[in-house]
Amino acid sequence: MPSKRPGLGCRSNCYKACKVIEEPANRNELSEEPSRTLEESEGETFFDGVPLEKIANEVGTPTYIYSAKSFKKQFRELEKAFKGVDSKIFYSVKANSNVNIISLFNQLGSGFDIVSGGELHRVIAAGADPKATIFSGVGKSVSEIDLALKAGIDCFNIESAPELDRIIERSRVFGKKPDISVRINPDIDALTHPYISTGLKENKFGVDRASALKLFKSAQDSKYVELVGIDAHIGSQMGSEKPLIDSLLRLLQYAKEIEAQGIQLKHLNIGGGFGVPYKGEKIFPLRKFATAAEKIMNGTGKQLRIEPGRYLTANAGLLLTRLEYLKKDNNGKHFAIADAAMNDLIRPALYNAWHQIWPVNPQAESVTEDWDIVGPICESADFLAKNRNLSISEGGLLAVLSAGAYGMSLASNYNSRNRAAEVLIENGTARLIRRRETIEDQLALEIIQE
Ligand SMILES: *Cc1c(COP(=O)(O)O)cnc(C)c1O
Repeated sequence: MPSKRPGLGCRSNCYKACKVIEEPANRNELSEEPSRTLEESEGETFFDGVPLEKIANEVGTPTYIYSAKSFKKQFRELEKAFKGVDSKIFYSVKANSNVNIISLFNQLGSGFDIVSGGELHRVIAAGADPKATIFSGVGKSVSEIDLALKAGIDCFNIESAPELDRIIERSRVFGKKPDISVRINPDIDALTHPYISTGLKENKFGVDRASALKLFKSAQDSKYVELVGIDAHIGSQMGSEKPLIDSLLRLLQYAKEIEAQGIQLKHLNIGGGFGVPYKGEKIFPLRKFATAAEKIMNGTGKQLRIEPGRYLTANAGLLLTRLEYLKKDNNGKHFAIADAAMNDLIRPALYNAWHQIWPVNPQAESVTEDWDIVGPICESADFLAKNRNLSISEGGLLAVLSAGAYGMSLASNYNSRNRAAEVLIENGTARLIRRRETIEDQLALEIIQE
């Protein structure tokens, strides 16, 4: 068996991550350090017990690789944190939408938070019960609403007055009375990247207090919907519990106002957004939040709902890529050109996100320099990492860590590149859960005139 590396405090490609691991105060708040699932033994790098080189040889690169053990650990950790309060987890499917991953969370007892009809189809294909699914999103189409009504989902999270009108109309047509929740925009700063901040009044999500009161009234007057909850989702990758607590307190205050009108609510849904460590940054203080939430919720007779995505998946996955060329310019810039690109992992280009880069099985001839790790795509935004002091060689493998959330689910075919394969490691065995796309797959959709 490979031996576990003692944290990260040892290699040249280790930056601030070392510091956090060394800090005992943060220790019990650690969920899954990016490289913790990596092990090294006799020059081989293992991920959850399987050599990465072996997967690269069998499946090729670029390939997303996930650890079932790590998904489970994160799920159990959340369950444990909230065990003192009536609560339910709804995995946010958009973070990682592979049917096998949905199925894994289904087996753990998770519900699902979806944002499209496509995601509902995936939940059903995974063998999960649509009755444990809630439907969020600002633009639900008639066909998506119809699909969800027929499937009998748990709850629609309503984001606007015209959406409520549409759901009432479709429910009337089908003779249904679905449960609904109204998404509040609490105007709270999640203190995160602006592109993943969703609870400020300039954001398109949810409704303000005055509009919410009107929506509650229309819902109450309708025979075709049942108002049972209110929800919010203020942003992603939060490092502090404070904005979420403020948001929960605001939900409770709104709930009291609704209940004064004679409507009894069953749940408050705080959304997702729990942050994870990408480079040892301050990690979301889960227990602190859970304890505070417990105090707020207990005695209300309502269920606390959460919709985590990133927390459950980010550090359970990596993107394995092979280096095509090392390119050294005279002006001192050093580029390592990988076979993975922004179409595979867009987070660095989109949010300037930082992913730890781990050279897999570095060779004797490896060159240590400050490298920009870039892809083959014709865009200057096509990078995976910048200015990393790494020891690498042409043809070598790199693991891009913390790529389990918003990686494959955001992949595209830009530059007519085939999307990556996906592998799931479970009980020491690696299994292909999505084959590599082919050019035939891409061309199959295009209509060529005879
Ligand atoms: C994306 C999303 C989530 C999940 O966010 P994470 O930051 O991945 O936890 C939860 N709820 C809603 C409504 C979302 O849009």
